[in-house]
Amino acid sequence: MTGLDLVFLGPPGAGKGTQAAELARRRGVPHVSTGDLLRGAVKADSPLGRQARGYLDRGRLVPDEVVVGMVRERLDRSDARKGFILDGFPRTVAQAEALDRELTSRGRRLRAVVLFELQDDEVLERLGGRLTCTSCGAMYHLRHEPPSQEGICDRCGGGLEVREDDRPGTVRRRLEEYREKTAPLVAYYQGRGILRRVDASGPIEEVRAALEGLLGGE
Ligand code: ADP
Ligand code: AMP
Repeated sequence: MTGLDLVFLGPPGAGKGTQAAELARRRGVPHVSTGDLLRGAVKADSPLGRQARGYLDRGRLVPDEVVVGMVRERLDRSDARKGFILDGFPRTVAQAEALDRELTSRGRRLRAVVLFELQDDEVLERLGGRLTCTSCGAMYHLRHEPPSQEGICDRCGGGLEVREDDRPGTVRRRLEEYREKTAPLVAYYQGRGILRRVDASGPIEEVRAALEGLLGGE
């Protein structure tokens, strides 16, 4: 039987990372965010990072083969054996097909794909207030989830910053990319009978409870 193999799908800013980090902690499986992996590579100035940087800065999707290779390596690590939460991957039908192949070849399959549903105006509001820790990647929000001390991460004491691609022009482009290339995955996973929808508009605690209800004892 497969582990807790989950995908979190939805527009940027819907709260996927916030919920994935928490659920992963509770269930003891890794939270695999392709955005975090790519930002880490950019920061480290690795060959992968140099390839990806321009796409991230412009709010464009990084080419499929680059991201698929990165995810393949991540899923091969031993901590992913009993499950994983993929956050921000897949983002295109080609990525979803590649993921199916990767899992099948390991004798696994996705347990569920959770779609975080949120209206555009709320997406903009969330991204507009997002603060990210430059050291540990923890997420805050100026209004909804402020740190106890301005500009400082509660968890690790690192500095908080506004992500470069959370600025208005880039956010618009990221939403276009989502609509054009990622939204078709809703039909893709619905057709496979594994899509689960969650109303992402409530407070963090409410979404957390809805998510637990949806996944049940899984
Ligand atoms: P995603 O991973 O989908 O891009 P995040 O988890 O980074 O989204 O959330 C985007 C922003 O919204 C962050 O600043 C986060 O603190 C905040 N946020 C997340 N979930 C909620 C929620 N349920 N209510 C209000 N703000 C939220
Ligand atoms: P995120 O942190 O999920 O909002 O992702 C930030 C950026 O990383 C995106 O705007 C893309 O440029 C890139 N990215 C993350 N995941 C993927 C993916 N699965 N496919 C292509 N590009 C990605």
